[in-house]
Amino acid sequence: MTRITVAKGDGIGPEIMDATLEIIKAAGAEIEIDEIEVGEKVYLAGNTAGISPESWDVIRRNKIFLKAPITTPQGGGYKSLNVTTRKFLGLYANVRPCMSLAPFVSTKHPEMDIVIVRENEEDLYAGIEHQQTDEVVQCLKLISRPGCEKIVRYAFEYARHYGRKKVTCFTKDNIMKQTDGLFHKVFDEIAAEYTDIENEHWIIDIGAAKMADTPEIFDVIVMPNLYGDVLSDVAAQIAGSVGLAGSSNIGEECAMFEAIHGSAPRRAGQNMANPSGLLQGAIMMLNHIGQPEVAEKVQNAWLKTIEEGTHTYDIFKAGVSKQNVGTKEFAGAVIANLGEKPTTLKSVSYAKDAALILPKYKKKVPAKKDLVGVDMFVHWNGTNPDEIATKLQKLDVHGTELTMITNRGIKVWPEGFPETFCTDHWRCRFKSANGSGISKQQIIGLLTSAEAQGIDSIKTENLYEFDGKQSYSMGQGQ
Ligand code: NAD
Repeated sequence: MTRITVAKGDGIGPEIMDATLEIIKAAGAEIEIDEIEVGEKVYLAGNTAGISPESWDVIRRNKIFLKAPITTPQGGGYKSLNVTTRKFLGLYANVRPCMSLAPFVSTKHPEMDIVIVRENEEDLYAGIEHQQTDEVVQCLKLISRPGCEKIVRYAFEYARHYGRKKVTCFTKDNIMKQTDGLFHKVFDEIAAEYTDIENEHWIIDIGAAKMADTPEIFDVIVMPNLYGDVLSDVAAQIAGSVGLAGSSNIGEECAMFEAIHGSAPRRAGQNMANPSGLLQGAIMMLNHIGQPEVAEKVQNAWLKTIEEGTHTYDIFKAGVSKQNVGTKEFAGAVIANLGEKPTTLKSVSYAKDAALILPKYKKKVPAKKDLVGVDMFVHWNGTNPDEIATKLQKLDVHGTELTMITNRGIKVWPEGFPETFCTDHWRCRFKSANGSGISKQQIIGLLTSAEAQGIDSIKTENLYEFDGKQSYSMGQGQ
């Protein structure tokens, strides 16, 4: 018996949760339920997080959370419960299977059967943004080695566990050589450990185009957070409907399972909503908690129900569907099919061994880290880079020299092009004059001297070598 936390959520949430729980219990799921209240009522009672501290205690105690969609009230000040939950609980992997149910649900891609594994905690979603000058704002893209290792290993373990043949990685490392470069590098390192599974890397732009056009050539696709957010919706939609997809959010300790759609408030309370998305989330949960026989039984009964043409309004299509049913009747039809398998759609057979649980990340031995320079970012309203260069060259800090100025990443000094458009945000690179390292004292000296000269320095980034390897970007055109 596994104790799980359930939140029935808002809008159609309670109806689809009741249907989902009825189906999995009928299939023999061994679960005990603690129900908590999250979402609209909690938000409107004045809790901007949408969840009480007592509910957090229940979630953390049980570690497994099945969540119906919630309504985030309009207006500022309310924090997204989904984002908070993922980050607080360290749910690093977002897994979203997107499978065609053709010919029973229309899609242009009848052969499609892919699983998107999206990194869930970092990348541009760290939410660290600053305005630095009149003209320039910045969002930090943070990619960590533990983040990459955990998500890539999860993708390969998932592929092995579910008998999938290939893991594809999407990044944009031809441009972002440090951040996406690390993701790709870790992918190559870990792929080498899984010789039984094919691996490949695509640059995200052409990869995404290919996925939207010919999804059947992909199997498992792993990618950083932002790309995964966008492409997992594309994948769910082109597979047939976002209303049919579920997702899991997996951490080292806890996991959360849900439908990918929202609370559809206009459909609430009418016994109309399709419970399939949440049911798919619940099936992923059953696999995760080591009840694959129950998961398999439910999935096969669900496939059989879809195949029989028993459809809720959202996927009902005259000529293809046989019966337009409500939420409760759909659940009843799935329960009646428990023990059956689909005949046209492919039935599933889940691995009967233990749940998919990965080892915890182990910290690596730190590299040798040398400070070799500093990028001083300057807010300056001029237009001719030679002028700011002349001012910066007067900063009197022994042993340092100005080596380059870029504007939005493009080198504008020395030897820039007058055609390059410049904003008021200048990156000014100082390095050691004799090729050795520099010290933090020298950086402080540069900042002090800049302040004395009336130069508006807005931030610095230290330039490091790790184990002798340059670990910062060059200027474009450098
Ligand atoms: P939505 O997913 O709720 O609805 C989009 C459309 O899909 C609607 O036309 C709806 O009728 C239909 N639909 C969605 N799920 C369906 C189902 N199971 N059966 C039949 N039809 C279904 O998206 P929205 O309207 O943009 O958002 C509504 C609310 O949901 C908002 O408050 C939003 O913040 C919230 N939301 C919550 C989650 C979550 O909790 N995970 C995710 C997305 C949106």
